[in-house]
Amino acid sequence: MDPQSGAPTPVIVARADHPVSRSQISGNALKVLYRLKDAGYQAFLVGGCVRDLLIGIEPKDFDVATDASPEDVRRLFRNCRLIGRRFRLAHVRFGWQVIEVATFRAAGAPMAPEPDLDGVTGEDEEPDVDAGVPLDEHGDVNGNVAGPDEADAGDRAHDERGRLLRDNVYGTIDQDVWRRDFTCNALYYSIEDFSIWDYVGGVDDVRARTIRLIGDPETRYREDPVRMLRAVRFEAKLGFSIHESARAPFATLAELLGHIPPARLLDEFQKLFLAGFGQRAFDLLRAHGLFAPLFPATAAHLESEPDGTALALIRAGLADTDRRVAEGRAVTPMFLFAVMLFGPVSAAAQRRFESGAPPPVAIAEAVDEVVAQQNRRIGIPKRFSIPMRELLALQPRFHRREGRRVLGFLAHPRFRAAYDFLLLRAQSGAEDPEIARWWTELLALSPEQQRERVGTDAGQGEGQAPRRRRRRRRGGRRDAAPPAES
Ligand code: ATP
Ligand code: MG
Repeated sequence: MDPQSGAPTPVIVARADHPVSRSQISGNALKVLYRLKDAGYQAFLVGGCVRDLLIGIEPKDFDVATDASPEDVRRLFRNCRLIGRRFRLAHVRFGWQVIEVATFRAAGAPMAPEPDLDGVTGEDEEPDVDAGVPLDEHGDVNGNVAGPDEADAGDRAHDERGRLLRDNVYGTIDQDVWRRDFTCNALYYSIEDFSIWDYVGGVDDVRARTIRLIGDPETRYREDPVRMLRAVRFEAKLGFSIHESARAPFATLAELLGHIPPARLLDEFQKLFLAGFGQRAFDLLRAHGLFAPLFPATAAHLESEPDGTALALIRAGLADTDRRVAEGRAVTPMFLFAVMLFGPVSAAAQRRFESGAPPPVAIAEAVDEVVAQQNRRIGIPKRFSIPMRELLALQPRFHRREGRRVLGFLAHPRFRAAYDFLLLRAQSGAEDPEIARWWTELLALSPEQQRERVGTDAGQGEGQAPRRRRRRRRGGRRDAAPPAES
């Protein structure tokens, strides 16, 4: 605390006393920092990148904080656009890399969404349409770009119902720091002298690998319950442990996640499960009681399932995804949703089989039922739910191992995803491993050998689609029938 002004003073860790070197910092981030500094502004790296550099891992992105206003930043960089509705921030683009430049904010400007989001849960919403939820300082999920008429900074704007649309109250670094979530995320690296400014004991917490909230934990979680998920994400990603004080409120506050807009939870879902540490994130979320608010039907299924196949399938599916991420291969949320929802979908499909529905129809309808519930928590866009339904409804087709239609199945656009899912089912005890083996062997054969194996007459030319036969529907609703069931 500065005795004159009463303002908090940081501990300044000199360059000689910390390991962060400019050689680890992206050249583009350095360009931004230096240009701001040369124009007379303060410029810092802030947030996750400083934390990651301190522990020697490569940051995902580099965020800059400055006392320059967004408009000042825009004037300095030609390759810059302002985004955000509530808070304006500058995105400075270098090819594929975007350096985000945020102006320090004063206390009135929360880092996270204010709880004035009309209690939108998106229950009846088409999840393809983002729920209009502003995220943290990283702009809003709508990717709003400020129009020229909005170019005045430091103002406030409300909509007709009094909801705060924009509250650009800019401030100083010693105001900016308190709205950040965890001490490890509130470190500022100065380009002036390469020191790290620490107002909150963050350097010690990073050294001790501890996740600790800034301020009163319960208050900070109530302000933004997603911080609970963020704590677990950093625990899984960095191997830090969540300080007891930051863990204690989970039990009573977990249910607040039920009120977070589904589009925002979709975003968190992807950060938790598609970034290479998904299996650990899943185990930790369950251990902390934070999985059930995200996937209520799955959590209930896992509680009651006698044989553990759905649990084994989720863990195997996440391990597989983590491996793919490590190898730099593509991953899709669609597949992971299939993995996560497999348990409740199977149970709902079973009820339909028992009342006589053909398997693919039963499965497709079960998917629709489960997805409708799931959308109240994590909004699954149709671009994911539709292919997911298809891949699940294709599973019974693996039981047919003779005839031309087998070859048609191999050429199906969703075959590969369906086959990967078959392997998971076999691996976790939800399918006879012999069936998976048979398909794996088939895939290793030449087209000629494949035709022989399935007993197709040789008249079928390579690459030629098998003749489609119309089959009479038995009971299934037309729109519920999986498109692949020819
Ligand atoms: P990652 O390595 O995943 O990018 P990160 O710490 O950089 O982690 P971001 O989501 O990129 O996380 O956010 C950047 C910074 O913004 C954080 O380090 C934190 O200081 C602040 N922040 C982000 N979200 C919140 C939030 N919900 N509440 C408070 N502060 C937040
Ligand atoms: Mg970040």
